[in-house]
Amino acid sequence: MRMIRFVPVLALALCATACSAPAETVLPDPTAAPTAAPTAEPTPEVTPEPTPDIQVVDGITYVNGILIANKSYSLPADYAPGVSEEAQSAFEEMAAGAAQDGINLYIASGFRSYDYQAKLYQRYVDRDGKEKADTYSARPGHSEHQTGLAFDLNEVSDAFIGTPEAEWLAAHAHEYGFIIRYPADKVEITGYKYEPWHVRYLGKETAAAVYESGLCLEEYLGIDSVYAD
Ligand SMILES: [Zn+2]
Repeated sequence: MRMIRFVPVLALALCATACSAPAETVLPDPTAAPTAAPTAEPTPEVTPEPTPDIQVVDGITYVNGILIANKSYSLPADYAPGVSEEAQSAFEEMAAGAAQDGINLYIASGFRSYDYQAKLYQRYVDRDGKEKADTYSARPGHSEHQTGLAFDLNEVSDAFIGTPEAEWLAAHAHEYGFIIRYPADKVEITGYKYEPWHVRYLGKETAAAVYESGLCLEEYLGIDSVYAD
């Protein structure tokens, strides 16, 4: 009787050992090296957006030291510096350079006062409506022509697009300190249609930097060009 009673106890003990053994082998070993290697990709380098240094002096906005007039930044109504002498002489140097390549450049429109721009803009609004006028004509105070640093050259119309003069300007303006201010592929950013005739004087160093960046001035400075209302 004693032997009979002992057997089931032994069998139970054997079973418990046999059943638990395989289970132990599949348990993860916390000390083992992880099977999946951690992502080897390096952390992408984050280039922080440069924060523009915006200074307003007597109502005139300078972004990183560059005078700005666009849809976001306006000029006081009484700001009337006339054409910048530096921009004028840079234009003359550019016109001389162009002439050597058989290209004739002339100024169609330079400095425009606030009052003149007001009349011009109103005329376009009367003709085409405000929404359309805003795509090609600046509201008074927002025109780059009021800075005295911008010129419209030669034929101020779409007929200028693709002319040898327009091509020459696009390729060489920066060598003389100018940029094509409203490029064809930046309409949504500048807020203006493509104007291959409108150049902005920035000085040779900055103009070359903007040209080489492939950015429009707003992108280059990290600002926008949007009317508040
Ligand atoms: Zn213009």
